[in-house]
Amino acid sequence: VPELRKDPVDGTWVIVSTERCARPLAIRTKIPIQETEPCPFCPGNETETPKEVFALRPGGSERDEPGWQIRVFPNKYPALRLDGAVEERGDELFVRKDGVGVHEVIVETTVHDLHLADMDSGQLVEILKVYAHRIRALSCDPRIRCVLVFRNHGFLAGATKLHPHSQVVGLPRVPRRIERELEGAKAYHEVHKRCVFCDILHREIEEGTRILLENEGFVVLAPYASRIPYELAIYPRNHAARFEDEGEEGIRFLGEALKKSLGAVRNALGDPSFHYIIHTAPVSSGSRREERSAQDAAFHWHIEILPRMTSLAGFEWGSGMYINIVSPEEATALLRSKG
Ligand SMILES: [Zn+2]
Ligand SMILES: [Zn+2]
Ligand SMILES: [Zn+2]
Repeated sequence: VPELRKDPVDGTWVIVSTERCARPLAIRTKIPIQETEPCPFCPGNETETPKEVFALRPGGSERDEPGWQIRVFPNKYPALRLDGAVEERGDELFVRKDGVGVHEVIVETTVHDLHLADMDSGQLVEILKVYAHRIRALSCDPRIRCVLVFRNHGFLAGATKLHPHSQVVGLPRVPRRIERELEGAKAYHEVHKRCVFCDILHREIEEGTRILLENEGFVVLAPYASRIPYELAIYPRNHAARFEDEGEEGIRFLGEALKKSLGAVRNALGDPSFHYIIHTAPVSSGSRREERSAQDAAFHWHIEILPRMTSLAGFEWGSGMYINIVSPEEATALLRSKG
């Protein structure tokens, strides 16, 4: 019997309907990323990208020269730019504002074709530290209210380059999906005086059927109301609102959990396209200190991993509900067996 499940944080409804898929989910045709020109992300091609804003250069080499380990620069085709005003304009009906924001690219390695799951743990830790560094740096601009770090892997996830990279977007307002998580978390906190994510973690660890893996610092699970097949979430075991505040040890445990999770997804599903997104608490300035402490008590940062095995159909676009043809319990069992 199909089952309706409600996400305990943001209230999204999911139809878990495994009968729609009697046989194992066939991986969607792998469409290779077309590479027509020399890769601008490879060492030696630094002049092909905008000027770097940050780089890890262990040998102390010059800016925009080879010798880097990780390199960050503004997106050549940014979705947003850091000029203009954040005020809304227009009228009651058609509101608009300047596209103020930041859009950066983080090139994660000098190796053109390397899966994140094959990356050396030390390198992965450095990448995560650069994520935290960029979130902190962008948060300093008073116009930025929320920073999203995400990664697209594979053509079906919208990646246009093979070379391993992530993106950082600083936004002048909190996007709807994070706002809904925040609202849900604050509402739960007001009633129960506890973090909803912490409560979910306790319950999930007790039940066990949706836990992919755990280490000292982190828990990886398939969410109860997974929207798409093989969706995963990585949570710090102890309450923390902000990814960018994780210390050295936390980042090390996170690197291990992320590497293993992506390895399990690749091994079990045949290198599917995927996204991952870091959801960290929005920026809040000193003048909003009360807001900040209420938010930080209620919100628990996490990484969402979203394999792209199916595409969203008219039902999802039209309803805001999802139909998931692989239950998170089945997903966990398969990922565990091939991890
Ligand atoms: Zn390259
Ligand atoms: Zn928590
Ligand atoms: Zn989230």
